Amino acid sequence: MPTYEYHCLECGHKFTETLQLKEREAQKPQCPKCRSQKVQQIFSSFFAKTSKKS
Ligand SMILES: [Zn+2]
Repeated sequence: MPTYEYHCLECGHKFTETLQLKEREAQKPQCPKCRSQKVQQIFSSFFAKTSKKS
């Protein structure tokens, strides 16, 4: 399952979500810390994760 990394614009908390594309459209990701939906997806780390195997 693909992992998406988000950055909360309210509190600055970073978190990851593993959602299918359908689920991402149905529900907006929410910050687990302050429960704000003002989150921004971080694209750069997505590519960094796929490039190395852990
Ligand atoms: Zn937050």
